[in-house]
Order: sequence, then C-alpha cells, then structure tokens
Amino acid sequence: MTFSDLGLSPALVKAVAEKGYTKPSPIQEKAIPHILEGKDLLASAQTGTGKTAGFTLPVLQYLTDTKHPKYRPLRALVLTPTRELAAQVYDNVREYSKYANIKSAVVFGGVNAKPQIATLKRGVDILVATPGRLLDLHDQKALSFKRVDVLILDEADRMLDMGFVRDINKIISFMPAKRQNLLFSATFSNDIKKLAAGILKNPVSVEAEPQNSTAKKVTHKVYKVDKKKKTEFTIKLIKDGNWNQVLIFTRTKHGANRLTQNLIKAKISAAAIHGNKSQGARTKALKNFKENSIRILVATDIAARGLDIPLLPHVINYELPNVPEDYVHRIGRTGRAGAAGEAISLVCSEETEYQNEIEKLLKEKLESNIVKGFEPTDTAPPKRAATQSKGSFGKKKKGGNSDSSNQNKPKRKPHFKGNKPAGAASGRGRTGAPKKKRF
Ligand code: ADP
Ligand code: MG
Repeated sequence: MTFSDLGLSPALVKAVAEKGYTKPSPIQEKAIPHILEGKDLLASAQTGTGKTAGFTLPVLQYLTDTKHPKYRPLRALVLTPTRELAAQVYDNVREYSKYANIKSAVVFGGVNAKPQIATLKRGVDILVATPGRLLDLHDQKALSFKRVDVLILDEADRMLDMGFVRDINKIISFMPAKRQNLLFSATFSNDIKKLAAGILKNPVSVEAEPQNSTAKKVTHKVYKVDKKKKTEFTIKLIKDGNWNQVLIFTRTKHGANRLTQNLIKAKISAAAIHGNKSQGARTKALKNFKENSIRILVATDIAARGLDIPLLPHVINYELPNVPEDYVHRIGRTGRAGAAGEAISLVCSEETEYQNEIEKLLKEKLESNIVKGFEPTDTAPPKRAATQSKGSFGKKKKGGNSDSSNQNKPKRKPHFKGNKPAGAASGRGRTGAPKKKRF
C-alpha cells in the first residue's frame, strides 16, 4: 500500500516522500480513505504512530480538490491542547502542503496576537490552534468559523484532561452544522467516546493498536531507589551510560526546575519545560533539545504531551505518574517509529502503589532492579531479595527490596509484545496478515 493507492494527489505524495515516509502507517492506512470519503471519524492509536499525517493529508487533499472563494475563508480547523503541539502540527501541515496551493497558519497563546491577526486577515484555508487563543481572536473578530467544513480535534484525550470541553463546544457553536468532524486520540476511553458522541455524526471508528498498549520495542525498567538519592542516581545513569538525549519526567513544575538545576550543577546540560515557563523558553528548550545542544529535557506530563521528539533512546520517569495512563503517554516518547527505546522508572517506596496501578493497566509486571548504594531506605523496609540489577551497571546485586512481595518476582519480560490483535475497526477489521513494524 502506498500513499498514492490511498487516493492522495501527486503533490502530497511528493511532499511525504521528501519527509522520508515510504509507506502509510497502519492508522494512516485505516483513517485516510474514510476521511477522503467525507465521513466523520474517531481514530485512536498510540503516540508516535503518525496520526498527524493521518488527518492532515486527506484534509489537504479535500482543500485542494474543492474550490475556494478568493478571500480564502477558514475551511479546516485543527484544535490541539498545547502550544507546542499546535506549533508541531502546523510544521507538518506546512511540510505536507509544500506543493499544494494551500494557505495555513497557527495561533496559540503566550505570544503576541497582532501578527496572528494580520495573518488571519490575509486569508487562511487551514488553521491549527489552541482553544483559548482561538476564542480570543474570534471575540476580536479576527476570524470567522462560518465556512468551516472540517473540524479536527487532535490529542482529544488530553483536551479532555485539560478541561477544554467548554471551549470546544463554544467554538463548535459558531460553526455550520453541516461539516466533517475528526477526532484523534491516543486512548479510547469512555470519556472520549462520550465527547465523540456529542460531536461526531455516524462516525467510523478506527483503531490501530489495542487500547493502552505501550509502544513496541520499548524496554521497561524499574529501579527501586531511595527517594533522597533519586537525583544522584539519575546523574549516575546519564553519566555511566553516556546518554546524550534523555527526556525526564517529573510530577511537579517545581521538581522539574530543581532537577534541572542539579543536573546543570553536575555539568549535564539540561532545560525544563512546563506550564510556568514562558512560551519563548519552552520553544527554545525544545529546539535546543532536538538539535542536541542540550542533553536533558526535564518535563511535566502536560508540557510533554504530543511533542514529536523522534528516535528518543531514553526516557526516565524521575517520579511515577499518579495517573497510570500518563505512564503510557510518557513512554510513547521512546521507541518511536520502530526504533528501540528504554523507559526507566525511579520508584521509591511510597510510589509502589503507582507502580501497581501501572502494571494493572499494562497487564504486565515491570522488571525491578536495585543498585547498591541506592537501595530504598525510606518507609516500608526491605523484606526479601529482589531481582538482580543488570543493565548499565553491569553488576549483579542481591538487594533487599520489597514494597510488596509479589512485585519482586524476577519476571523476565522486558519487551512488550507487538503482535496482539489489533482492535477491530468498525466494519473494516484487520486482515489476518502478520503484524510488522509500525512503519
Ligand atoms: P502521533 O500524533 O500519532 O503521536 P506523529 O504524527 O507525531 O504521531 O508522528 C510521529 C513521527 O512519525 C513523526 O516524526 C512523523 O514525521 C513520523 N511519521 C508519520 N508518518 C510516517 C510514515 N508513514 N512513515 C514514516 N514516518 C512517519
Ligand atoms: Mg499526535
């Protein structure tokens, strides 16, 4: 199957070829034909599976196929939960539409609205936006939604988490009732289904991976560590492994700042990215990280969601998330596009419950390790021998770890299986073909 087979025009096919895509990803293969037919669609696939092109390409095709009035009213709107994601989706829109006669723009908060207003006034076919700034601009009459034919909600699950439902409904209230609606999400929760039921009309649903499955080729590793020694341990991991591009998750903004400072003190270049940082600082940090001019990006969950950081070899959970689904999103940052990755979690005694919740969600036990000198000493004292520590430290340890005994069994199952049956898409289930890499 090629992009041309899916019904995309030579101009779009040429642009994706230049991006180095050789064939459509599974979610693209499933979603694109329905979107080209004009159907409403609910699509879910794990992070890093190419959802952006899955909706952008067919929408660009629609925009080029249909005639537009000279003044170029807004005809397609992509809503994203975060500024970074808006910027990133827009980059893709621009790249994919390179050879098509399409005008695109992006608007988000935290930066001057004036240039955005000027751009909108010149006429835009497709706009990528975060809800808050978009409504501001609409209030200022900088744009109209009256001619919108296609509405796309990207990362819809995170939009829900971030409380954007009211904004979304308000935006929709300004749109014509007759339009195409596309909803893309990493997860397929009941809340998403509820949101979809309110917005989509007779939608087709497509799923490229089973619900909440973690990325393939990702090795999960837990280090049981003393809470007070997490920073020291993190530095050791980075230095011993000579890791040069690591994304680290912390639970709080304050924690992200503190860890960043400590890394810098240890002569490891790092920057933090979270909601209290200015837009300029966030963009700069991400850019530097992508360009490899800083080694470590420390992020909170919300800031990191949806960022496209290709081929990231290591993700460290400095703290486990208290929402188990966030673990899946976090590790979606590693092992992207078929590359191998390692997800490392530093778990102190008081986080054991979070680990249990994550294992329940994943239906897998995470391999636990203890490294001498960093054993958990806080609360719940160790009871029995745990699994052996290997990995980057090369030594075997018999640490006494134990927060809950059933967790210490040496389960040798570092890799998640990639060949679970795909969730059946309504009406167009998978063929029986063996599953290959994501791309
Ligand atoms: P998602 O939104 O599902 O998390 P993205 O749309 O951000 O994923 O895509 C993840 C990465 O995969 C990006 O770097 C993108 O350029 C790349 N990609 C998308 N489609 C393909 C494809 N068909 N072949 C190869 N790489 C692709
Ligand atoms: Mg995405």
